[in-house]
Amino acid sequence: MAELDQLRTRVRGFLAQEIATGGFSPHCDPWLIGFDRAFSLRLGAAGLLGLMLPAHYGGGGGSAADRLVVSEELLAAGAPVTAHWFAERQFAPSILRHGTCEQKDEWLPRVIRGEVCISVGLSEPDAGSDLAAVRTKAERADGGWFISGTKIWTSGAHLADAIVVLARTGGQKHEGLSQFIVRLPNNDVSIRGINMISGVRHFNEVHFESTFVPDADVLGEIGQGWKQAMEELAYERVGPERYLSTLPLLQELILGLGKNPESSAALGEVLADIRTFRTINQRVIEHLDSGNTAAIDIPLLKTIGTNFEQSTVLTALALANDPLRTSAITAKAKELLSEAQYQAPSFTIRGGTNEVLRGIVSKGLLR
Ligand SMILES: Cc1cc2nc3c(=O)[nH]c(=O)nc-3n(C[C@H](O)[C@H](O)[C@H](O)COP(=O)(O)OP(=O)(O)OC[C@H]3O[C@@H](n4cnc5c(N)ncnc54)[C@H](O)[C@@H]3O)c2cc1C
Repeated sequence: MAELDQLRTRVRGFLAQEIATGGFSPHCDPWLIGFDRAFSLRLGAAGLLGLMLPAHYGGGGGSAADRLVVSEELLAAGAPVTAHWFAERQFAPSILRHGTCEQKDEWLPRVIRGEVCISVGLSEPDAGSDLAAVRTKAERADGGWFISGTKIWTSGAHLADAIVVLARTGGQKHEGLSQFIVRLPNNDVSIRGINMISGVRHFNEVHFESTFVPDADVLGEIGQGWKQAMEELAYERVGPERYLSTLPLLQELILGLGKNPESSAALGEVLADIRTFRTINQRVIEHLDSGNTAAIDIPLLKTIGTNFEQSTVLTALALANDPLRTSAITAKAKELLSEAQYQAPSFTIRGGTNEVLRGIVSKGLLR
């Protein structure tokens, strides 16, 4: 499609300029460990954020296909996109679907400008895969709610402007859950860092001590939190970040290894798989545009995509450790390989583990 090709050219131009001016250096898994607010602001200023959001708020008025093109190029370049990623990917669509007029007016233009960093407050010490076991509670107060409880594995909460918290307002299991936008920093929210094995501070344990949230910051309907959170997870699970997290490494390997037949065969196979994933993903995101967030292709793509991402690290490792080729491996490739090795175990856990997603797929097939 001509418009999408033009958009792709625009993004590539922006990224070439960024690289030429030292705006960033490529990393693996740049949507999770590439936090750079200044980069997100430049991307917003270039009109490359919120392309699927209504023009009325400053967005592109396009579809998920537009965002896919931009995302693919950013990930392929290893650009530092973490600061705006969660806000643009799942928070903005949720605000658009469920937010009040005031929330839309406040948050959407800011997301589109690349100003907003959002954290996702779902997992708890005793509620990960079994999210319906959430114990964080919200109790009614005058003009709002008091939230008490603990979230864990909260990506980037120490850097975020707000955390979207799933909390129990009544009922059992899936019933009686609701979502709240808790603004940060907040004196009644304590955030303790948990370092990853690489030493990078990424995760947090976030504790809410009777944290007051005004009614204006309730997201969607009280009692509809489960449905809303599942919709957000659909946006989270489908996307090129589920098969492109290691592409900067693969590209650097190709640069170093050149046209050696054996390495070309191994890398060619990986690149052919990426092409297949792209084709599938282009179809799957149509579900998001049509509002079908329950489509089983979404968890299916996430499981096969993230298994594939992990396998690319093994392919890269085999090539890098081959004594015949060690001299052709660039210093940058070694750095990216080390990064990819540290990040790879999490590919199949974040956003829901592959075992659990396979369960969702099989139940969907039986239905
Ligand atoms: C890099 C990264 C970033 C993350 N960021 C966030 C974030 O920002 N916000 C957030 O809320 N959470 C975040 N998480 C947490 C993530 O969503 C959870 O780790 C994940 O859902 C699994 O939950 P758990 O860790 O409690 O494991 P558990 O649910 O305890 O699972 C342990 C093991 O048991 C298996 N298992 C559990 N139930 C079943 C079942 N029914 N059938 C088969 N096997 C099962 C799992 O597959 C897993 O292997 C992040 C995780 C990672 C790795």
